Amino acid sequence: MARTDAIVLGAGIVGVSVALHLAKRGLAVALVDRGEPGQGTSYGNAGIIEANTLFPAAFPSSLKSLARIALKQAPEANYHATFLAQVAPWLLAFRRNSAPERLVATMQAMRPLFSRAVSEHQALMAEAGAERYLRHTGWLKLYRRDSSLAATARERAIAAELGLPVRRLDVDAARALEPSLAPVFRHAVFWEQAASVSNPLAVTRAYAARFAALGGVAVTGDARSLRQAGAQWRVDTAQGPIDAEAAVVTLGPWAPDVLAPLGINLPLAVKRGYHRHFRQRGNASLARPILDVDNGYCLAPMEQGIRITTGVEFAPRDAAPTPVQLDRVLTAARDLFPLGDAVEDKPWLGARPCFADSRPVLGRAPGRGGLWLAYGHGHSGLTLGPVTGRLIAEMMTGATPFCDPAPYAAERFG
Ligand SMILES: Cc1cc2nc3c(=O)[nH]c(=O)nc-3n(C[C@H](O)[C@H](O)[C@H](O)COP(=O)(O)OP(=O)(O)OC[C@H]3O[C@@H](n4cnc5c(N)ncnc54)[C@H](O)[C@@H]3O)c2cc1C
Repeated sequence: MARTDAIVLGAGIVGVSVALHLAKRGLAVALVDRGEPGQGTSYGNAGIIEANTLFPAAFPSSLKSLARIALKQAPEANYHATFLAQVAPWLLAFRRNSAPERLVATMQAMRPLFSRAVSEHQALMAEAGAERYLRHTGWLKLYRRDSSLAATARERAIAAELGLPVRRLDVDAARALEPSLAPVFRHAVFWEQAASVSNPLAVTRAYAARFAALGGVAVTGDARSLRQAGAQWRVDTAQGPIDAEAAVVTLGPWAPDVLAPLGINLPLAVKRGYHRHFRQRGNASLARPILDVDNGYCLAPMEQGIRITTGVEFAPRDAAPTPVQLDRVLTAARDLFPLGDAVEDKPWLGARPCFADSRPVLGRAPGRGGLWLAYGHGHSGLTLGPVTGRLIAEMMTGATPFCDPAPYAAERFG
């Protein structure tokens, strides 16, 4: 390559969005991945662009829920027993961050990103010709127990204070929105401003194609070859070594593979999750993603079929799949919606890259000039990819960032 201003390592939704935003600002960018764009975690999510998400996923607050998880009876969470000692410090930090006042603090810290999430996607979709994948149909959450709905009262009250449209629906009103749902639930909450996509991979690919159209170069390479070469960062690729003044790590759950050898050890854990597509029976259809809260799974209508996504699994990132949660939720899902046969032979497995305070790390790498970090988007990486791209590009080019990036700095870990 003639001249490269920035190397972006990892072509998931976050890396592609960062690369595209840098290219839009006139930088010569090399986007490096060991595979094709969008085939990592960004491939398999539920497709929800959670513009009005307020509280992040939290540690269970009731002993009953904890006991069910411990006994491996909970659909929303699973774990590999041999992994618990290793992940225990992270879980304790996650529990501390799940205190009610901390959830509000996280909400406030993340609001600038979430509130722009849909418009930033829309802007990229418009220039990438990807608008056909976007649905402005909101997100419907179903509650089978009165107590589960009651637990959302505070979040709904804050939403109302912020002027976010959120509607509590009875069964009939929910079924007026989604006639194929069986009345096996008691309540619903409709988050109207959430959007969703019908094919997350196609969206990432479209953004990658737009990046290429602007002169960006996507190359195959192993990010673990990243090293400093004089004042430059260098990575080995199929096209030979590439040098640039700046490098951005957007490797999602794989970021520690590159950062640990550089002495940067931030406390990332992964929450693994599975999906599988099913055909719908007869004329059944869904217009939006559905969360069956008390059973811990999502039904997301995708081009490939109805995608069931599971809750979280604490296990080593690279351990063999153990998709027991899909088995646990399938009966409840079939009671709710007329699912037919599975589309694939086996489930897909991904790993949400998560910090215990439910914030990504966005900004400069501590102590390493020219190195930037944009990873750890947890449950919301699809949502936050484009807005992350804007923020990082603004910071890297010396523009005024659209929001204060301090809450996302790596330095918060000391
Ligand atoms: C079941 C499930 C459901 C989800 N649902 C939603 C949802 O509805 N909405 C939402 O906003 N988010 C959701 N998420 C979270 C979201 O998918 C992730 O936060 C997001 O995809 C992370 O994107 P990323 O670009 O950081 O990482 P990735 O997409 O994983 O990209 C990292 C890239 O790095 C590359 N890479 C890794 N190692 C190397 C190496 N050594 N050399 C070169 N390249 C390398 C990989 O090939 C990959 O392309 C869900 C996640 C799961 C698992």
